[in-house]
Amino acid sequence: MSMRLVFLGPPGAGKGTQAKALCEGWRIPHIATGDMLRSAKVSGKLPPSLAQQMNAGGLVPDSVVIALIRDRIAEPDAARGFLFDGFPRTVPQAEALDDLLQTAGFALDAAVAIEVPEHLLIERATLRRIDKKTGQIYHLKYKPAPPGADLECRPDDAEEVVRQRLKTYVAMTSELLPYYQKRGILKRVSGEGGVDEVTARIRAVLGSRSKEDGKELAG
Ligand code: ADP
Ligand code: AMP
Repeated sequence: MSMRLVFLGPPGAGKGTQAKALCEGWRIPHIATGDMLRSAKVSGKLPPSLAQQMNAGGLVPDSVVIALIRDRIAEPDAARGFLFDGFPRTVPQAEALDDLLQTAGFALDAAVAIEVPEHLLIERATLRRIDKKTGQIYHLKYKPAPPGADLECRPDDAEEVVRQRLKTYVAMTSELLPYYQKRGILKRVSGEGGVDEVTARIRAVLGSRSKEDGKELAG
């Protein structure tokens, strides 16, 4: 059995939170292009002009993320599946992903769109904090970190940058909803409510596949 998924949704929708909760059980890698780009930024491998684009709430060029994904899905842990979070973000990225998968003899099982009203997105993103050591995602109001966590705030979670990222989402990424709708694999899920509630909704739209926990997938 295998699972090849993408999570779509605006910044702050809860994609990373849900991906972390689900991937552990499914034993597939959670591949977040935002995390990969932030690591490249920290290690100095990302050209400064691209780091600037990220900090300003824009997208980095398609060619850069497609190259990252091409290498990442060739790694052994992605052989049985993956969950992409934050990729694809444009139609050319989605087409490139389809081509990569087709060449390998695979196809996406589902594109899950997590939908959240704008006022909640702003609150979720601006109060998001990440534990530098573990990568765990917390929220100052909804998911406080335990004592001793070494928290940082993403520079692009400043309110004016979040607003720009939401505009970028509407302009570039929302086009992906009809793209996956036409292919018959789009699953829309409300991201309002508690984390566990949203996880249950995602499992429900994925049907029997989502019940295939790590034990069964290992077969
Ligand atoms: P995304 O990956 O879509 O940008 P995250 O998963 O990082 O979003 O979530 C954004 C912020 O919202 C985080 O601080 C996270 O703890 C919080 N969050 C995620 N899901 C929920 C939820 N269902 N209810 C309240 N807060 C949430
Ligand atoms: P995220 O962590 O998904 O919110 O992404 C943070 C930032 O990384 C985005 O605002 C973009 O600048 C950049 N980024 C992440 N994924 C992509 C992608 N698939 N295409 C272009 N830019 C991306």
